[in-house]
Amino acid sequence: MALKTPEQYEESLRKMKLKVYVQGELVENPVDHPIIRPSLNSVKKTYELAQIPEYQELMTAESHLNGERVNRFCHLHQNTDDLVKKVKMQRLLGQKTAACFQRCVGMDAINAVDSVTFEMDEKLGTDYHKRFTKFLERMQEEDWTVDGAMTDPKGDRSLPPHKQADPDMYVRVVEKRADGIVVRGAKAHQTGAINSHWILVMPTIAMGKDDADYAVSFAAPADAEGVFYIYGRQSCDTRKLEGVEIDVGNKQFGGHEALMVFENVFIPWEYVFMCGEYEFSGSLVERFAGYHRQSYGGCKVGVGDVLIGAAALAAEYNGVAKASHIKDKLIEMVHLNESLYSCGIACSAEGQKTASGNYIIDLLLANVCKQNITRLPYEIARLAEDVAGGLMVTLPSEHDLRHPEIGKIVEKYFKGVDSIPMEDRMRILRLVENLTLGTAAVGYRTESMHGAGSPQAQRVMIARQGDLGSKKELAKEIAGIKKKNQH
Ligand code: SF4
Ligand code: FE
Repeated sequence: MALKTPEQYEESLRKMKLKVYVQGELVENPVDHPIIRPSLNSVKKTYELAQIPEYQELMTAESHLNGERVNRFCHLHQNTDDLVKKVKMQRLLGQKTAACFQRCVGMDAINAVDSVTFEMDEKLGTDYHKRFTKFLERMQEEDWTVDGAMTDPKGDRSLPPHKQADPDMYVRVVEKRADGIVVRGAKAHQTGAINSHWILVMPTIAMGKDDADYAVSFAAPADAEGVFYIYGRQSCDTRKLEGVEIDVGNKQFGGHEALMVFENVFIPWEYVFMCGEYEFSGSLVERFAGYHRQSYGGCKVGVGDVLIGAAALAAEYNGVAKASHIKDKLIEMVHLNESLYSCGIACSAEGQKTASGNYIIDLLLANVCKQNITRLPYEIARLAEDVAGGLMVTLPSEHDLRHPEIGKIVEKYFKGVDSIPMEDRMRILRLVENLTLGTAAVGYRTESMHGAGSPQAQRVMIARQGDLGSKKELAKEIAGIKKKNQH
């Protein structure tokens, strides 16, 4: 079975025994938990669209391992066309969910681990790539959602892992046995962790010799013994517990992050893909981050499409759609959003083949893409709030609208254009609120800042990849500055 149906995906999650805490309580059944459920629906959409012929070109790909059709989220990019399609798929899913659909972290992780394990084996004579390929075969066969896990809690940022007061601030190997390793530590803000079948762990920074125990990459079932999760809360999350629809803004879809804890978890050798080879940890981080920075040029753009549409509708419902400054603000939002998309497409089109055979994005352009993402969605959100008007944050609740007495008053005074039902106006304003300030703002705003690395991380890469030396040579040539030995 290379493609799971959405129902099979949900059933497969029900069979798992994930240990999850939400707001101080151990959750019996994460699949139906009202706070978690919308995020599951987003991942489920990645299975649903893969079944629809119209979307198959984007949502699926031919496995390079066995020629079968697999979900693109389980695929290793075989050419630049695959890289471009990945971004297009992410835009599509952003449009369909208006949320983070979470599954990209696994796709980005497998593509990074593939080439790095190959290069490690070539240089060191290890057999990590073979092990990883076996894992990938199973992932494709079972259509798993895999949670790529990179970000450690990091403790005191001025100290390397081995100098931390608490040695668990980075995931590390605490024991090596004949049959495998034992790991402990945690990964913070793990996107989609509760909706995943497996976890693929990678180090979070380039490690030095003294941090060799922290240079570890492995795969584990998401419900492996010793693994548990503490669910991250989001602004306005408890609205989902009120049994309301309009006030949540996006009732069906959402995203989530969680703290993923490893309490002495045993990992058999067949699932270990790096164990002490610290000199390769930097490449793994750089490649995973590069792929995920490309990803944002798709997903955030798709969510941006929904936000722009919502702002345009809010303007119509308010009766201001024809005002020239409103039109201009909507044009600006489209311009900004398409600028982000251009970066996502550009870094994909300029991709290169790696030694293992899969394709990697142009790292400079991917970092430029993400650097723009740390800025432009904020401006798009600002313009959306401007166009929508202050009512998006001062509206009474859905309970007031449904109230037998005051409901009529709410409807009367919050009516805009007469032909538009007041409830529709409320729905659109709540959607803008959700995307800019509510649960989805995690994915659209703050994740745009810090997800796939905070702004400074991209600037370090831009400095490294920007090749100022050759630019100086160009300037010298044009300015007629002779080389020293040419006098
Ligand atoms: Fe995918 Fe975007 Fe969510 Fe990352 S933030 S997992 S790229 S949808
Ligand atoms: Fe992310």
